[in-house]
Amino acid sequence: MKTIERVEQAQDVLAYVDGVYQTVKDRNPNESEFHQAVKEVFDSLMPVLEKNPVYMKQGILERIVEPERIISFRVPWVDDQGNVKVNRGFRVQYNSAIGPYKGGLRFHPSVNASIIKFLGFEQIFKNSLTGQPIGGGKGGADFDPKGKSDMEIMRFTQSFMTELSQHIGADVDVPAGDIGVGAREIGYMFGQYKKMRGGYEAGVLTGKSIDSGGSLARKEATGYGTVYFVEEMMKEKGKSFEGSTVTVSGSGNVSIYAMEKAMELGAKVVACSDSAGYIYDKDGINLATVKQLKEVESKRISEYVTIHPEAHYFEDCAGIWSIPCDIALPCATQNELDEMAAKILVANGVVAVGEGANMPSTHAAVQMFLNSDVLFAPGKAANAGGVSVSALEMAQNSARLAWSFEEVDAKLHDIMKNIYRNSMKAAEEYDAPGNLVVGANIAGFIKVADTMVMQGVI
Ligand code: NDP
Repeated sequence: MKTIERVEQAQDVLAYVDGVYQTVKDRNPNESEFHQAVKEVFDSLMPVLEKNPVYMKQGILERIVEPERIISFRVPWVDDQGNVKVNRGFRVQYNSAIGPYKGGLRFHPSVNASIIKFLGFEQIFKNSLTGQPIGGGKGGADFDPKGKSDMEIMRFTQSFMTELSQHIGADVDVPAGDIGVGAREIGYMFGQYKKMRGGYEAGVLTGKSIDSGGSLARKEATGYGTVYFVEEMMKEKGKSFEGSTVTVSGSGNVSIYAMEKAMELGAKVVACSDSAGYIYDKDGINLATVKQLKEVESKRISEYVTIHPEAHYFEDCAGIWSIPCDIALPCATQNELDEMAAKILVANGVVAVGEGANMPSTHAAVQMFLNSDVLFAPGKAANAGGVSVSALEMAQNSARLAWSFEEVDAKLHDIMKNIYRNSMKAAEEYDAPGNLVVGANIAGFIKVADTMVMQGVI
């Protein structure tokens, strides 16, 4: 193609992408997180559309941003004082081109349509990257589990599942955990689903307890997977976790197991956080204490310093990024790492950033890392280990088998290496060598887009 034609075609593609993005904003006003997630993917796709105009003719972008179905529902429940409370539940069944909808449930007061749609949209590409047959979905409720008794949690989750059960199934939509939803909540939801269906359909939820058909290594999968991915990325530059100083935000499921694997690989993890503040232990955090405080006692991370007085506690969780480190792993929540934090990390010589959480870095922070030659692993690729092992849990449930921890962990490790390789390859093919943001978006998109073309306009 002559240069002038190429330029004209690039302009057409840009106008098309801008037009679709504008429609997304008009149709979904005041949903900034959702807009951010769409923009990040669209920014990567120009060269793909130039090379494959069929995607534009087939309206793939217009279709992929529009969820196949969104369910929003009332969740009434009774607190310990006998008061009736009402929360809003959501499930977005985003895209089922390559498999049943799959994605976690988040219970947090900040949950709204924008958050659920951004997470569901990201999930489409993440699930595609895993190489497993799973579509994209996400759900949750604006329920705050903090300070609730066990009975309140049970009554809420049962009410939530009473409605959700009408919309899910092992071959339809398979939820799992996310922020505020761990093994306890999944257990109550599975119990309620089983009672309502009158049958033992283990494959309807993942993240179950081992005795209910859960998979070994699911609890560890997202954190371990993030570290496996970052390890791969660093290996290429002759670097490793061994001897590195690491900061990890959050102290929930993803954070704890990212810390565990980083320590196993010889790193010193000096800081972690919760939504109130962060702890800094220059000689290395005692993970057993963090696990006891968070997994067993559901206490605040500030309690750490009463057990380890040599450590320091600081209010304001965002301050964690001011600690000098070689590797930063944001594992808490969306937009927790902004441009200012990125600048400080870069100034302090950070070598690699791996996103264990979903979209934890703002757009400006990501650009800062990419422009500063920091090795950057986007969440879509780096935190895909959780959903990968969820898909392995589904496979075990279908086969009525249980694999050993080592077997699942080895499969997880292979999957993360493959995601890294495929993302790097796509980045190379589309003239963005080494840019894993672009590579992950493209590799995840093409498989879904091709399948949508093959399945017709539905
Ligand atoms: P958890 O609920 O187990 O832990 C979340 C942690 O993040 C808690 O320590 C919480 O602190 C902290 N946190 C929440 N909000 C903020 C905030 N505004 N600022 C700082 N810290 C905050 O959730 P997960 O570990 O499961 O999930 C963490 C992230 O990883 C989310 O983005 C999730 O979508 C993503 N993810 C999770 C997967 C999984 O398998 N669980 C899979 C893939 C991605 P506090 O207790 O004070 O609220």
